[in-house]
Amino acid sequence: MAPQTRDTDILILGSGGAGLFAALHAHKAAPELSITVAVKGLLGKCGCTRMVQGGYNVALAREDSVERHFMDTIVGGAWLSDQELAWKLVSLAVERVRELENELGCFFDRNPDGTIHQKAFAGQTFDRTVHKGDLTGIEIINRLAEQVWVRRIERLEEHRAVDLIKAKDGKSLAGVLFIDMRTGEYLFVRARAVLLATGGGPTMYKYHTPSGDKTCDGLAMALRAGLALRDMEMVQFHPTGLLAGTHTRMTGTVLEEGLRGAGGYLLNGAKERFMPRYDSKAERATRDLVSRAMFAEMKKGNTTPHGGLYISMAHLGPAEVRKQFKGMVERCADCGFDLAGGLVEVVPTAHYMMGGVEFGLDCSTALPGLFAAGEDSGGVHGANRLGGNGVANSTVFGAVAGDAMAAWVKPVPHRDPDPVAIDAAVCACERPFRTGKSASLEPVRDKLYEVMWDKVGIVRDAAGLKAAQAELQALEAELEAYCVPNADRAFNMTWHDWLNLKSLVAVSRVIALAAAARCDSRGAHFRADFPECGSLEASAFTSITHGMVSMKPVAFTRVAPGQTLLHGVQNEVA
Ligand SMILES: Cc1cc2nc3c(=O)[nH]c(=O)nc-3n(C[C@H](O)[C@H](O)[C@H](O)COP(=O)(O)OP(=O)(O)OC[C@H]3O[C@@H](n4cnc5c(N)ncnc54)[C@H](O)[C@@H]3O)c2cc1C
Repeated sequence: MAPQTRDTDILILGSGGAGLFAALHAHKAAPELSITVAVKGLLGKCGCTRMVQGGYNVALAREDSVERHFMDTIVGGAWLSDQELAWKLVSLAVERVRELENELGCFFDRNPDGTIHQKAFAGQTFDRTVHKGDLTGIEIINRLAEQVWVRRIERLEEHRAVDLIKAKDGKSLAGVLFIDMRTGEYLFVRARAVLLATGGGPTMYKYHTPSGDKTCDGLAMALRAGLALRDMEMVQFHPTGLLAGTHTRMTGTVLEEGLRGAGGYLLNGAKERFMPRYDSKAERATRDLVSRAMFAEMKKGNTTPHGGLYISMAHLGPAEVRKQFKGMVERCADCGFDLAGGLVEVVPTAHYMMGGVEFGLDCSTALPGLFAAGEDSGGVHGANRLGGNGVANSTVFGAVAGDAMAAWVKPVPHRDPDPVAIDAAVCACERPFRTGKSASLEPVRDKLYEVMWDKVGIVRDAAGLKAAQAELQALEAELEAYCVPNADRAFNMTWHDWLNLKSLVAVSRVIALAAAARCDSRGAHFRADFPECGSLEASAFTSITHGMVSMKPVAFTRVAPGQTLLHGVQNEVA
């Protein structure tokens, strides 16, 4: 099946905060270039940036500083972050928020004096989270999408990227192969620069928060292209996923961090508050600590009717909760819970991947022509992402990538693709269209959920990780042998589900591999057999290429463990 072809100068995969910021910045820097945003869903309607609830971390207040935001990010990340990337995040977040309000039309909540209101998020030493009520992402993505729509930026919607295609010399990127989901036909887009911004997404866990279009496709493509992925063992669990039973897809969706930030309590099945027993910051401890404490409490069997725990806000005053968290109150009411005055069942839920493609300060990668930004990239957050630093990451590095790609492509011609690579990629996608016994993919998905939740989840050990590798390998073999029952390729969702699972299993194997290699407990990664965090001074991150994992030392380019950029306030960030 020979693909159709087309050319563009800059090709952007994904239309979240990273993809749309990249498109706008590339267009502003070089309006003469052709720019195409290709996306699995509809532009402005998919991905996780739209789902951002709590808000955007940025040091705006006079009493706050980028140094303080930086130290919170480094300490929160257990000293595994690339410090130059983290510095870029905190310093450019200030510019991006101004751009969002003053150029792109966002309007964030205000204080009575007209300054931007910033709320508390866990793990931060200052209230710095900018927001629009508790539905901040809709404000950001709607305004970004409008700006993209009015510019000469091409869109390929419902186009799923399936492989990065190298040039004939095998050393640089020529473009990307897609499936047009509406027809099932293949399309090869030749591009001088490509941005990987498909947003990762740990949807291989039983309970998860990200949007259903996110199935680690970008990371799986990067792996196949031989790129190094770092920090892949670092999967963040958000403590408060809604738990409303197996009959509703609302189970697993997130109740925002601001609830704990505002003073919400977590209670066990006996309705007792337990967090003060686990950490001095109680519910306001970082997500990893709270999720682990919840998991421990659940292991004791001290659970709610659905097997989780409760969040309680009523002591803060139901009217105030209703006013401050309107969206959350309505979401809980949809599932029969009264967030303002009663108890809501919650469970830790897989939320974010700190790991991703190793990339540079200009978002370039080891494959010339390929750039990465947002949740597909690794190194900014280290072992743990602070709530509010995710959307800052995607918008900051999306903009950096847009500027960098516009400059990069100017002297670079289009490269011709290796036709053998295109054929091989098409062949791999066509594999399930053959005669044979077809069955439902649901059991494969359920097995994946169970193995990742039980053995590669909040608490891990060597034996579980080894068993997980074997089970994941068996799932890979099951998928290889699978036949799609319906050969009609137009909107063939079983076929896409198969492709989704292929990406998820490939990336799950890398998570398990990295988790087995890290013999200590840091941030989101906890090993029951190695519960200590090890020497911070000797911090190293995992890096995986071609199925091999290596440990690379962290360079403390700005601050070393035990030091601070905040003179006189060392205790606060230790
Ligand atoms: C419920 C929820 C609440 C959150 N709340 C906050 C918060 O309050 N503050 C915060 O900082 N962070 C929050 N986050 C995290 C934040 O949403 C992400 O960090 C960030 O938005 C990721 O941006 P991105 O551009 O990398 O990816 P996304 O916004 O997820 O966009 C990814 C895009 O890639 C597309 N795509 C995927 N696969 C393919 C493919 N194969 N081909 C083509 N396109 C593809 C998707 O359709 C989508 O358009 C939250 C996340 C969730 C799930």
